[in-house]
Amino acid sequence: MIRLHLELSGAVQGVGFRPFVYQLANELGLAGWVRNSVNGVEVEIEGGADAVNGFEAELQERLPAHASIARLDRWAIPKENARDFRIAASAAGEIGARTADVLPDIALCDECLADIRDPSNRRYAYPFANCTHCGPRFSIALDLPYDRANTTMQGFQMCEACLEEYESPANRRFHAQPNACPDCGPQLSWLNRSGTLLSECADALESAAIAIEKGQIVAVKGVGGFHLFADARNTEAIDVLRKRKNRPSKPLALMFPSLESAVSEVEISEQESEWLQSSAAPIVILPRRATSSLPDSLAPGNPGLGVMLPYSPFHYLITQRLGFPVVATSGNRGDEPICIENDEAVERLRGIADGFLVHDRPIARAVDDSVVRMAAGRAMLLRRARGYAPSPIPVKDLGEPALAFGGDLKNAIALADGDRVYLSQHIGDLATLETRRAFERCVADFCAMRDFAPAAVACDRHPSYHSRQLAVASGNQVIAIQHHHAHAVGCASENDVGPEEAYFGVVWDGTGYGDDDSVWGGEFLRCEGNEYQRHAWLRPFPLPGGEKAIRDPRFAALGCLHEAGIEVEDTFLADRLSKEEIAVSRRMIERGINTPRTSSAGRLFDAVSALCGLRERNGYEGEAAMALEFAASTDPSLAAYPIIFEGEGEIDWRPLLNAIVRDLVDEKQSPAVVAARFHHSLVDMIVQVASGANCETIALSGGCFQNVFLLERTIVRLRASGFRPIWSRQAPSNDGGLALGQAVLASRIVSSQA
Ligand code: ZN
Ligand code: ZN
Ligand code: FE
Repeated sequence: MIRLHLELSGAVQGVGFRPFVYQLANELGLAGWVRNSVNGVEVEIEGGADAVNGFEAELQERLPAHASIARLDRWAIPKENARDFRIAASAAGEIGARTADVLPDIALCDECLADIRDPSNRRYAYPFANCTHCGPRFSIALDLPYDRANTTMQGFQMCEACLEEYESPANRRFHAQPNACPDCGPQLSWLNRSGTLLSECADALESAAIAIEKGQIVAVKGVGGFHLFADARNTEAIDVLRKRKNRPSKPLALMFPSLESAVSEVEISEQESEWLQSSAAPIVILPRRATSSLPDSLAPGNPGLGVMLPYSPFHYLITQRLGFPVVATSGNRGDEPICIENDEAVERLRGIADGFLVHDRPIARAVDDSVVRMAAGRAMLLRRARGYAPSPIPVKDLGEPALAFGGDLKNAIALADGDRVYLSQHIGDLATLETRRAFERCVADFCAMRDFAPAAVACDRHPSYHSRQLAVASGNQVIAIQHHHAHAVGCASENDVGPEEAYFGVVWDGTGYGDDDSVWGGEFLRCEGNEYQRHAWLRPFPLPGGEKAIRDPRFAALGCLHEAGIEVEDTFLADRLSKEEIAVSRRMIERGINTPRTSSAGRLFDAVSALCGLRERNGYEGEAAMALEFAASTDPSLAAYPIIFEGEGEIDWRPLLNAIVRDLVDEKQSPAVVAARFHHSLVDMIVQVASGANCETIALSGGCFQNVFLLERTIVRLRASGFRPIWSRQAPSNDGGLALGQAVLASRIVSSQA
């Protein structure tokens, strides 16, 4: 007979881990106990040596679906001649490192779905059914250990029937922390546009459904925050929503009642249908069918539609009742964070929503929907939030604990701790005060959850970034990291490339502060250890008007033409700008007034898009560049344009631009042809530059590599030339993933200082 003490950390709370251990111990006839601790789960196990060894093996092999063990420590202790195995009360309030992971929110499981569809079940049509296999986690967790008293369900007293389930180890609701039923749990309410209560429960759902049917905009409180719902078939409703939200062109996400109902509108591969139905249940960007009857205004000029399936009982019930797809866009104003509280929503969404479908289960933190797109046969995360955050990303060779504040656009923070990095949910653009508040809450939240005291705070080198100023104000040691270096390191880290290996980062995005104080964005960095060397870059060009040229791609085009010595009057751009605009821009460029120089690949995309006449406005980041991606012809016979490159340093794209203007003006080529040839030229450029870098691994990162046309062709060509291309998938390749690389670098840099 022996007795062992086991301590496990990782995703072991809120996943049915204790009942699993309980059942396993009983199967093997072992005695002892299991309990939650701030670090995860503790087990004591007593019995014959064979049975105890068997227990350890089975433990690893038969883990519950959403569980994973990050670390297991074990040691022998004196036996107590115990006879039975029990689930003990949690060891709360202990001081020590918190290493248990809070799980992401998990989509409705099949068994709970069956419950709410069964008229004889006591949870029939109940919008808040859940169990240990599904339901909210991260969005309701207030503290660790993950027990009911530490969630936003703390105010709901379980009824007898619920309590019995909660306490029965054999029940799938055993210690399901948000366990609830119509008798004891949260309920729906329907409020009018000024927040007055009109109806409750099933009546509330019905009232909201009727409003949506009538073409109204309804703010709907979900799992991680509010959505704005509207009938996706109703062009007028969409126009009203776009006007009220001041969102002229950015694609709107859709929620379909079921997978079957989505199939007639979008093409769904087997893999994509798995993602839609996964426990993360993200928005998946899917190619729209030519026969789709939905209005074009859902995603103007975009061949894809962002689609998700109902991921909570609540979403299931309302979409089933409606029977048609709804627009389900973030319940926020502009770039502010999504609303999570009822009063706050009524206040902030006033003038946008015609009514509010709310509930009384508080949301602990805002968690947006995640966005996934297929790229090179695999899932690529464009926005990491619900269903993914705060799951850690394992990273090699980390050092001291470090916190990273990310960048100012698409902000997310990260925390490097032990052998993993916890990348936060998407927070938003730090330009608004609301978002900066959300940012500070998220930092406090992440540190408190893990009892985390960082050795340093990493931020971007941009001197006027809010995120940098906040890092300085935090009072910690600040480590400022070059923007594109952070992108490259983040990409390498999630692909298991450590600091000992030299790799080549191709980092292309819109804007990043360069070491020479200019704006970078078309960078080729040779990375090794904690250092990088700027091996090559796109020839810089002037950006008349600065910020304005970011919103209006025609001005980026003027800058490029000027740099290439091409007269504007010799291009179609002359027809799309007034003489006055052209003259003013020319003066600004010549005198260097409000005209930064940039090596940005994103701006080069903008310029070509404008020259092709595809987009005159960036209504949202990347709009013009995306138009160029979508326009590109797949005809394989189209050739690349020439560039000049000496093997290191500046890449001269001026011959390319001259060829583009010739194609458009003299050859009367279509934008489809020019867009394709432009993409091929960039692929050529990457292969050519990489060939001189003496690295096998090529990390493709930065927002430009969300362009699947570019990414997939680059991967194929690099592989054909003997390289190993890697790209960002778990963390967004846009600035949403910046904090990952920052955290990794800061962690290693602090260790090297010690
Ligand atoms: Zn369930
Ligand atoms: Zn109950
Ligand atoms: Fe960037």
